[in-house]
Amino acid sequence: MEKSTGLPPKISATVDLDGAGVQHGHLVIPHSRNDSPWGSILMPISVIAGGEGPTILFTGGNHGDEYEGPITLMNLVRELRAESVRGRVIVIPALNYPALRAGTRLSPIDGLNMNRVFPGRRDGSVTEMIADYVQRVVLPRADVVVDFHAGGKVMTFLPMAVMHRLPDPAMMERTTAALHAFGAPVGLVLEELDAAGMLDTAVEAMGKVFISTELGGGGTVSRETLAIARRGVSNLLVHFGLVDGAIEGPGRTRLMEAPGAESYVVARGSGLYEIIAEPGEEVREGDPVGRIHDPERPWAEPVLCKAGMEGLLVHRHVAGHVQTGDCLAVVARDLA
Ligand code: CA
Repeated sequence: MEKSTGLPPKISATVDLDGAGVQHGHLVIPHSRNDSPWGSILMPISVIAGGEGPTILFTGGNHGDEYEGPITLMNLVRELRAESVRGRVIVIPALNYPALRAGTRLSPIDGLNMNRVFPGRRDGSVTEMIADYVQRVVLPRADVVVDFHAGGKVMTFLPMAVMHRLPDPAMMERTTAALHAFGAPVGLVLEELDAAGMLDTAVEAMGKVFISTELGGGGTVSRETLAIARRGVSNLLVHFGLVDGAIEGPGRTRLMEAPGAESYVVARGSGLYEIIAEPGEEVREGDPVGRIHDPERPWAEPVLCKAGMEGLLVHRHVAGHVQTGDCLAVVARDLA
């Protein structure tokens, strides 16, 4: 821990996080630069609070090239009325706001990945300051956190809600119930390869329910993925008792797991990626999911990329160029 963590965050809010009614405003992030020496970044936040009840935090744009979250959450803050809410809904449509503005995964200001900097740093760069504010001001107020992701420009996923395998059985049960309530076609229980610095980890360490998503990708959205996101938000508000209504499409989620390294197909070469298997297709262990052509040696046999286990392909690389070490595909299996 740094000495500075005893001080309040450098970011301030123009909304009262503990206030009632509908408030739209900004997190004011100090950002001195050549073209604006005393400038700041105004990052949108909305708080919609009614009567007694839990607090749910929705975040999108953790990565700036994933759009279902931001679009769905912008629709939410315009439509949700305080009178229909029991509890509090805090919405940050774009958590890495500078990245969303630039349409890039990482922040164009400091090059940082929002989902690798938690718990953040008060005296750090813009991305670190945002994480520090969320960690120390927003998360302690939340009972449930839902963080929207998609594949971004270079990956695509079968639309799914995602949770981690949790050591506490009671938390595992609560989170699995929320995953089912979200109602995506697939609910993936993930074993993270590197969980340090993630918002997920920060929330789970506080003993709160955390749900994430991977909805499509390719740097765009589809009607299908937007409909899933919209239904997911509405279902979770009902599930946690914040609004009245019925869960739409209950029981449709296929619960699956990505148990470990064998789920991930990693590129063993660089070059042009020929797709063999698409997300949604079942594969057996050893089945080729794609192959990599070396443009400098067109006559050479392409490098085969094989599934490490039997299951459903839930992700694939989108970009035509791949490099050694890229994650090309993810295979998931039904959770027993
Ligand atoms: Ca992401």
